[in-house]
Amino acid sequence: KFSTDSLVGQGNVRVLVRARPFLQREIDAECKCLLSMDQSLGTTTLYRTDDIDRSDDGLSDSGTLLSRRARDVKEFAFDESMWSVDRMTKNTQFVDQDLLYDKVGREFLDHSFEGYHTCILAYGQTGAGKSYTMNGTDEEPGLIPRTCYDLFRRIEKMTTATMTFTVKISYFEIYNEHVYDLLLPVITDPPTPLKVRESPVDGPYVKDLTTHSVRSYAEVEKYLKLGNKQRATAATNMNATSSRSHAVFTIALKKIESDPIMDETTEETNSRIRFVDLAGSERANSTGATGTRLREGANINKSLTTLGRVISILAESTLGSKKRDVVPYRDSTLTWLLKDNLGGNSKTAMIACISPCDYEETLSTLRYASQAK
Ligand code: ADP
Repeated sequence: KFSTDSLVGQGNVRVLVRARPFLQREIDAECKCLLSMDQSLGTTTLYRTDDIDRSDDGLSDSGTLLSRRARDVKEFAFDESMWSVDRMTKNTQFVDQDLLYDKVGREFLDHSFEGYHTCILAYGQTGAGKSYTMNGTDEEPGLIPRTCYDLFRRIEKMTTATMTFTVKISYFEIYNEHVYDLLLPVITDPPTPLKVRESPVDGPYVKDLTTHSVRSYAEVEKYLKLGNKQRATAATNMNATSSRSHAVFTIALKKIESDPIMDETTEETNSRIRFVDLAGSERANSTGATGTRLREGANINKSLTTLGRVISILAESTLGSKKRDVVPYRDSTLTWLLKDNLGGNSKTAMIACISPCDYEETLSTLRYASQAK
């Protein structure tokens, strides 16, 4: 039996942690950084401020001073620990959007062109940086726009008389175990849930979900904008907030190799690229909630717990165990729809997003992520 540590870096599942910078309100409130990272080891260490002797300003010293002083120190190892809290910290490389793409995005796109299904998920409490990591901002685009941009750049380079590509996209969200299309021009009030079906060939799928052929990055950008806007509209129409839903953006890439003389397709390779902005993990264990909020919390809890179990079983089974038969995909709509992107011929990365100054939530995220690993 392998120890869990030996899973790091192996197999088809990678678990990464990304710490975001302080927000203005945290700077105003003089919040202290409770984190340090050792990027060469991939470790993230969390401290409880109360236990830190602040007589010496060890806070910016990458944690070495602190670790000797602070009690209640929790250390976790991941495939990568990515620092973007501040640029000055010693021994840490600041992971901006560009470097993030270098570390995860580009490699995953390589896998897609090799014919693998891929899935990149962002986990964490609301405000920890999931959407920044996935979508980013206009000035600092995240993994989705960078991947799409790179995708079309590569297609342009690779297209020949005998090799062509098609790209189709879709965008849906899962709220309270129901699926909603985010690329409809108009979101009804309340939004119309779609049915989940299973096909013997393609596995689980969303019936009547719209898919859109795209030929350029500009076209994708238009749909992304629409989808993100509709996610907010749908949330309003359901009297919720978008942080309570899982958003799933899918790119279906088809490579067609053909014989121009015979005018026929000789080979087709299909790969599906998925980006999942998960519901905020913070109220997963909410106490005191009633009615809609209680059901909402319970459903988020169920899907995130199931996702964690699925990923951890898959990470283990790449080491040869026979557990694949019992992967509990069916226990939540999320894992059921992601089945082909998580198991089988696929590569998965989970990016756990953390705030630099929230002990309880960060601890819970780090625990979740290390259990998934
Ligand atoms: P979430 O999607 O998890 O709720 P957001 O992505 O909206 O969180 O992030 C909350 C705020 O923090 C946003 O204003 C975002 O721009 C900022 N932020 C998050 N991560 C980073 C980062 N790595 N670098 C710079 N700003 C970030």
